[in-house]
Amino acid sequence: MINFNVPPVVGTEEHYIAQAIAARKICGDGAFTKKCNAWIEEHTGTAKALLTTSCTHATEMAAILAGIREGDEIIMPSYTFVSTANAFVLRGGVPVFVDIRPDTMNIDEEKIEDAITERTKAIVAVHYAGVACEMDRIGEIAGRHGLIVIEDAAQGVMASYKGQALGSIGDFGCFSFHETKNYSMGEGGALLIRNPKDVERAEIVREKGTDRSKFFRGQVDKYTWVDAGSSYLPSELNAAYLYAQLEQAERVNENRLKSWRFYEERLRPLAEEGLLELPYIPKECTHNAHMFYIKARDLKERSRLIGFLKERGVMAVFHYIPLHSAPAGRQFGRFHGDDIYTTKESERLLRLPMYYGLREEDAKQVVNAVWEFYGK
Ligand SMILES: *Cc1c(COP(=O)(O)O)cnc(C)c1O
Repeated sequence: MINFNVPPVVGTEEHYIAQAIAARKICGDGAFTKKCNAWIEEHTGTAKALLTTSCTHATEMAAILAGIREGDEIIMPSYTFVSTANAFVLRGGVPVFVDIRPDTMNIDEEKIEDAITERTKAIVAVHYAGVACEMDRIGEIAGRHGLIVIEDAAQGVMASYKGQALGSIGDFGCFSFHETKNYSMGEGGALLIRNPKDVERAEIVREKGTDRSKFFRGQVDKYTWVDAGSSYLPSELNAAYLYAQLEQAERVNENRLKSWRFYEERLRPLAEEGLLELPYIPKECTHNAHMFYIKARDLKERSRLIGFLKERGVMAVFHYIPLHSAPAGRQFGRFHGDDIYTTKESERLLRLPMYYGLREEDAKQVVNAVWEFYGK
C-alpha cells in the first residue's frame, strides 16, 4: 500500500533530542527553540518568529494580537482547514467566506473588496498547497481599508511570492509543523511577526500573559502577570526534532519537488486530452511541493477514482469540506456572494501520495493506476 503521507524523518532527530535531554532543558524556549526561531527569521526575512504548539495556536495568537473582538468580521476562503476560522470565532469574530479561484484554490482576491463592511478587521490569506495568494492585490486592498493581513501559511514553509517567503508578507504569518506538513515536530507551528512593534506583546501572550521573555533577557529583574495570555510554547524535545529537519530543508524541498515534477510530467498527457486537470502555479509563485492534486470531472468520478486507486494499493484522499457548509460554519460565519467554485472545485479535487522520500517506483505505480482509470 502506498500511503498518502509518511511523516518526515531526516536522520538527525534522535541525536538532537538526546542533546536536549542531556542539557537538562526540555521545557520551552531553550537552545533548540531559539535555533528554530533564528532559522525561520533568516530564511523568511520576518522581523520575529516564535515557535508555537501548532499553527492553530499561532493563528489564535494572531487573532489576539490583531485585537479581534465580538462582532468583528474576518474575510477568508471557505475552502480551508477549520483552524483558519476557529481562531477568530474563539474571540467572537465572524468569518466572512468569499469564493476561491478555480485555478489555485486560493481566495479570489477580486471578490474581497465587495465583502468589506465597517466591521471588517482582517483578511486571512490561505496559501493552498504552498502556492501563494495574490498578495500584492490583497495588501493593496487591506492598505486602503486599514485591515490587518494574516497569512495562513501552514502549507507554505519554503515557498514564496515574488521572491518573498510566505508567512513574512502580511502582518502575521502562521506556519504548521504538524506531521502532515513538509517539516515537522509532531505537533507544532510558528508565528511570524512582520512589525517589530508587535513582538513584545506576542512574547507576553505566548508566555501566559507574563513578561518572562524580558526577564530571561535580563530586561526586568522579576517577571509578573502583565496581560491576558496563554501557553503557546512547545517543548524543547519537539523543537529539537524540528531543528534537524530545518537544517536539511533544501534537501527535503528538492526531494518533494522531484516527486511533484514526476507526477506533473507523467500526468500531463491526460490533462492535454481533457480527462483531468493539474495544479496551476502562477509565475509569481515558487511552491514547495506540499501537495500534488488532480481534479476529476465531478464528485462521482472522484469517488470512483478513489476506490479504483485503493484497489491498486494507492491511498489518495480528498480535502476540505467547505467551512460554510459545515454546521459550525453555518452557525458562526456567512458566505458573501455566490459560491461558484468553492463547493464545485472542492468536490473534484483529489490529493495523490506526497511525502519526503516517496520512491520513484511508487510514484510510477500511482501514475499507472491513474492512467488505467482513464482507460489508458
Ligand atoms: C495544517 C493546517 C492548519 C493547522 O495546523 P496545525 O499545526 O495542525 O494546527 C491550519 N491551516 C491550514 C491551511 C493547514 O493546512
